[in-house]
Amino acid sequence: MQDGHEEDPIKTSALYVVATPLGNLGDITLRALDVLRGVDAIACEDTRHTRRLLDHHAIRTPAFALHEHNEAAAAQKLIAMLAAGKRVALVSDAGTPCVSDPGARAVAAVRAAGYPVIPLPGPNAAIAALSAGGLADPHFLFVGFLPSKGMARRQQIESLKSIPASLVFYEAPHRIVATIADLAELLEPQRTLVIARELTKLFEQIASVPLADAPAWLAADPNRQRGEFVLLVSAPPPADDLPAEAMRTLKLLLAELPLKQAVKLAAEISGQPKNALYEQALLWKDEKL
Ligand code: SAM
Repeated sequence: MQDGHEEDPIKTSALYVVATPLGNLGDITLRALDVLRGVDAIACEDTRHTRRLLDHHAIRTPAFALHEHNEAAAAQKLIAMLAAGKRVALVSDAGTPCVSDPGARAVAAVRAAGYPVIPLPGPNAAIAALSAGGLADPHFLFVGFLPSKGMARRQQIESLKSIPASLVFYEAPHRIVATIADLAELLEPQRTLVIARELTKLFEQIASVPLADAPAWLAADPNRQRGEFVLLVSAPPPADDLPAEAMRTLKLLLAELPLKQAVKLAAEISGQPKNALYEQALLWKDEKL
């Protein structure tokens, strides 16, 4: 049966990868509760953190730690338990394990040892932000956390600039101002930034602003810099969709300078892609002929 969790028996010797709430403790599936209650042990990123969720649902299953600092050793413990016919669940502090969270190396080790790994889908901050963010791009690229060092972060943003998809970032409160400043400086100003903060929690906020306005929006209220963030940036504008200000700059420069030089300067001033400005300049030149 595919449609009844009651008829989905917990198999022996399998690792269940279980998504848990991002904040709201009610965001857990019936199947996840059955599995967390029914397995022999739960591997947790932080046992004290997960114990609060388990207590909330009166689940008494024993827990042990599996985090980024002990993942190799904990994976061996997991495999030994599976070899002894036990059923084990894997959870992280919030959301889906292995997505910007530990677990992938343990999952790979369990799979390599020949045991089944069974996913229990559920909360994920990126998908929650995409579901309520209202960006209509057909594709998205999950980037997760950008590098913490300024230079590396800027290089990575540059490398993502022309990807024809919404970009999805995770960010922590102590870096949110710097990251948004870099995004606003390096990407096209008319792209939409969705700032999804504290999803499923008391101070949930989902705001959409043009990227150019985002630093000022963030600075306007210190509360907007608090909590956990998902940032979505809409896909790059099509080449023929130059903002009015860039068109005006290009026109003024073309009146005074050779085409190539005007395009180069217009790109520097407006932050628009050179090839789009070049195409526009050629179009005007053709129209004059
Ligand atoms: N595994 C998680 C998932 O499935 O989304 C992500 C874990 S990662 C260590 C933590 C980051 O996820 C946070 O820094 C933030 O960027 C994002 N995040 C987690 N919970 C969030 C929430 N309630 N609201 C907004 N972003 C959240």
